[in-house]
Amino acid sequence: MTEANLGNGQAERALKPPLAMLAELTHRCPLQCPYCSNPLELTRRSDELETEEWADVFRQAAALGALQVHLSGGEPTARKDLPALVAAAHGCGLYTNLITAGVLLSRDGLVELAAQGLDHVQLSIQDSEPVGAERIGHLQGGHARKLAFAAWVRETGLPLTVNAVVHRQNLDHLEDIIALAHGLEAHRLEIAHVQYYGWALQNRAALMPTPEQVERASAVAKKARADLRGKMVIDYVVPDYHARRPKRCMDGWGNQFFAVTPRGRVLPCHAAETITGLGFSSVRERPLAWIWEHDEAFNKFRGVEWMQEPCRSCEFRERDLGGCRCQAFALTGDAAATDPVCEFSQHHEALTAVAAGGCEAGSETELPGSESRFVYRR
Ligand code: SF4
Ligand code: SF4
Repeated sequence: MTEANLGNGQAERALKPPLAMLAELTHRCPLQCPYCSNPLELTRRSDELETEEWADVFRQAAALGALQVHLSGGEPTARKDLPALVAAAHGCGLYTNLITAGVLLSRDGLVELAAQGLDHVQLSIQDSEPVGAERIGHLQGGHARKLAFAAWVRETGLPLTVNAVVHRQNLDHLEDIIALAHGLEAHRLEIAHVQYYGWALQNRAALMPTPEQVERASAVAKKARADLRGKMVIDYVVPDYHARRPKRCMDGWGNQFFAVTPRGRVLPCHAAETITGLGFSSVRERPLAWIWEHDEAFNKFRGVEWMQEPCRSCEFRERDLGGCRCQAFALTGDAAATDPVCEFSQHHEALTAVAAGGCEAGSETELPGSESRFVYRR
């Protein structure tokens, strides 16, 4: 525990060490998902942190108290030095989780990562069958490669989590998605509804599920959880736009988690760069411990002192911490506003209207007839 001076009028208080770090090793990716959480302006390969720079970040993170590193992207296996990065993180005592689309790595490449100390694999899937999956991910042949990759993961004995991002155009296949993950011998399935910022906000009309879809999917997930108890864990939560209260986002801004972008910027949340006007420090300029304790962006929304009404005097403020700052900014233009997911927000009705309509007429992603058009990540 360290004491840090939390700016912006906040009193000094104990600051816990971070639990986990998201290392966005690269923005390069062979897929082009229309809900990708990478920024609209992607980092070029020539600007990415070098191998030794990442190794130093891992050492600093472990020294700060972090226990886990999630190796992500873009597609982390696009980095040729991934075995060296896994070895560096493992050597610091960090639990290593590879978050991958599973379309680039060979079987031998996976065996090499396991030999270097990889602890866990999280594989993303776009749908339950190839036609839908490859239309969403925009990569021909990708689905079959993912299935082969999942089998290799199980052969190596590594635990496997399947992550399925769900939305209007695949939510009706949820039973098949669950069956697929179970067939792949995943020990966990994360069913993640799209979060609407960045690329997903560009595609909101094409991705927003109807209330009926959400209601049915919630029942499917509930039944599958009971049916598969003891065989596969299923994580599922009601999507924000269809909820009445916000989630405790990131378990608190700057509380347990930080992300490092491919060029070394340190963020309190992987989507924090969508909040324009907020500056972020880089590991190329500052030690990680200084950034965690003193960086203005980290301290801006820590705790509850920054809150405006209605959150400031609300009995639930310690429970949900006012919801998601990135979503508040995306929908109101004010990152300190109450998350519009909350029924007490003055913007909640507008959000409910979008969720009820499912599709915004006149938008770039309007659904003509039964067809849909995506703005693909580039
Ligand atoms: S969401 Fe899709 S496009 Fe974005 S990094 Fe993941 S696999 Fe690649
Ligand atoms: S007003 Fe703020 S603290 Fe209260 S429930 Fe809504 S988001 Fe949470």
